[in-house]
Amino acid sequence: MDGSGLPEIRSTCAYCGVGCGVLLRPDGAGGLDVRGDPAHPANKGRLCSKGSQLGETLGLEGRLLKPRVNGLDSEWDAALDLVALRFRETIAEHGPDSVAFYVSGQMLTEDYYVANKLMKGFIGSANIDTNSRLCMASTVAGHKRAFGTDTVPGTYDDLEEADLVVLVGSNLAWCHPVLYQRVVAAKKARPQMKVVVVDPRRTATCDNADLHLPLKPGTDVALFNGLLTEIAAQGAVDEGFMAHVEGFVATLESASDDDPARTGLDAATLQQFYDLFVRTEKVVTVFSQGVNQSSSGTDKVNSILNCHLATGRIGKPGMGPLSVTGQPNAMGGREVGGLANMLACHLDIENISHRSAVREFWSAPVIADKPGLKAVDLFQAVGEARIKALWVIHTNPAVTMPDADRVRDAIKDCPFVVVSDITAATDTARLAHVLLPATSWGEKEGTVTNSDRTISRQRGALPAPGEARPDWEILSEVGKRMGWPSEFDYASPAEIFREHAALSGVAGGFGKDFDISGHADLTDGDYAALAPFRWPYAGTRRGGRFFGDGAFYTESGRARMVPVKWKDFAQKTAPRFPFRFNTGRIRDQWHTMTRTARSPRLSAHLAEPFLEIHPEDAAELAISPASLVRVTSTHGTALLRALVTDKVQKGEVFAPMHWTGETAPAARVDALVPPVTDPISGQPESKGAVVALAPF
Ligand code: SF4
Repeated sequence: MDGSGLPEIRSTCAYCGVGCGVLLRPDGAGGLDVRGDPAHPANKGRLCSKGSQLGETLGLEGRLLKPRVNGLDSEWDAALDLVALRFRETIAEHGPDSVAFYVSGQMLTEDYYVANKLMKGFIGSANIDTNSRLCMASTVAGHKRAFGTDTVPGTYDDLEEADLVVLVGSNLAWCHPVLYQRVVAAKKARPQMKVVVVDPRRTATCDNADLHLPLKPGTDVALFNGLLTEIAAQGAVDEGFMAHVEGFVATLESASDDDPARTGLDAATLQQFYDLFVRTEKVVTVFSQGVNQSSSGTDKVNSILNCHLATGRIGKPGMGPLSVTGQPNAMGGREVGGLANMLACHLDIENISHRSAVREFWSAPVIADKPGLKAVDLFQAVGEARIKALWVIHTNPAVTMPDADRVRDAIKDCPFVVVSDITAATDTARLAHVLLPATSWGEKEGTVTNSDRTISRQRGALPAPGEARPDWEILSEVGKRMGWPSEFDYASPAEIFREHAALSGVAGGFGKDFDISGHADLTDGDYAALAPFRWPYAGTRRGGRFFGDGAFYTESGRARMVPVKWKDFAQKTAPRFPFRFNTGRIRDQWHTMTRTARSPRLSAHLAEPFLEIHPEDAAELAISPASLVRVTSTHGTALLRALVTDKVQKGEVFAPMHWTGETAPAARVDALVPPVTDPISGQPESKGAVVALAPF
């Protein structure tokens, strides 16, 4: 209860991977009053601007309220029958790999679970990938190389216990604001705590930093190889912990060959950072899209993990690498196996014993026996007509994928496209043959997992509008109609959660990290009241941290240090394309703005798309502040308003990624990004296009 006497409903924010708890109270006019939940471990009552304005983003204007087939309203049964029929026919004629799902970290875990089960266990393909591929696939790959599993070792509490927080490729102040607030508060309480920001741009996050390292874009591996060399040179290797680590000698040898001068940082600044890291025991290194969205993202991740492994600073209070994910349920998607190269519950698709166990658990007729197409390859396959039926759920790839114009054309030409979403007004939804109205945040029920493995409930506080249905139900209805009525006969998200938890026990039997099987017998009432909990569920390893005891999930049980070398961007600057094009988020918008654009207060922050450009570059090109600039890459063009600022370095420009064909047709910045990816993770290089600029 709050002061009004009306009951409040505990839920979780719709946006970023911090996963803040919120308290919702219907306002009696169809909306919700929203405040931070003081009892939630992620935010302890705090909210950022986006979370605070969630109530402003509700309302039925623009909502998709009824199924549509070929632009006309349809009944649910007819639409679902058609989806099932077209998928069945396509599979019968062209095989299971001729269909694909492209899903989203906005989905709840229960929805994700059903989608993954339907594709991998019943259709028999692994062609289900997610927009999380654009977010943190390199972290997943780096974790697996080093730890044997995709395990985030630390927790948010470590940030407050650390004496040094290093933020790499992370504008935490804008992209994970409540975590930033926690770091600011911790530093205020303990002024001796140091914060270092590693970022080519001088972002808002630098306001709280003791040291900003404006390295040349893409040189993170050289920076951390230099750090590893310095760790060894200063005798800071944890020799005792090395009993739990393999690959140290080869990794150090490789690192010693690299040249930290590539970073463009002067020797004194480098030494200052290296000394700080080496001499501070309690270090947390937070990393995000500046690391992941790269053609060498996995190597960047491992270069960071190498330094924590060498010093034994992992999985202990106040120490460790901490990946912060972009989306509310990117981690839940990883848990259910929602990426094309994963199975379920962190089991491995390449492992025949794992596949057999999952197939048996699901009573599935088949099981995908090889990784499916990762996002960029998936849409390339759509463009080449190898994928002939596509289902897109809660995401807008026609805007957000690299080479977005080609992706939009590929979707347009695909023989059968289904989109489930809350609105028909997205660039992708407009291309769909079948549109299925889904319930939205504030209406739907399920769980999400945040960046420190805390699983929280999202709860509905408003009725489903029109004919909107939850995603798990829509997917299950299609599964039933495709021929598996009992296997997809779910009555509630609680039932799906129990099944997922039970399957995680199978994973636990294989020695996997993700095991929440202690929750497999929850009653519906328990599920309704489920409080946030961090896995591992039963025993806590040092308060829910992994690896502090030196036990890893590799075959040898030892962590692997991975020799990595700096690699240049896939695209090189040249006289024709002399600028490096960086993309990212702004503070008050989210993804392609389907929700945040509804809030006048959020839209007031930065009202239109822009291009940050250094004053000297602007002067050379006769680009005046606030004038329009034509930005041209190898793959597309955009028209953006010049924001002349020395926050970007000379030769570099930055543009936000939120605006769409619906909101600013000339500002679809991902149309400029080439479809090049990290060869290990498949994550696109969203921060590495080369562009030319001209006044418009
Ligand atoms: Fe929501 Fe992220 Fe802001 Fe928390 S930090 S309120 S999860 S957007």
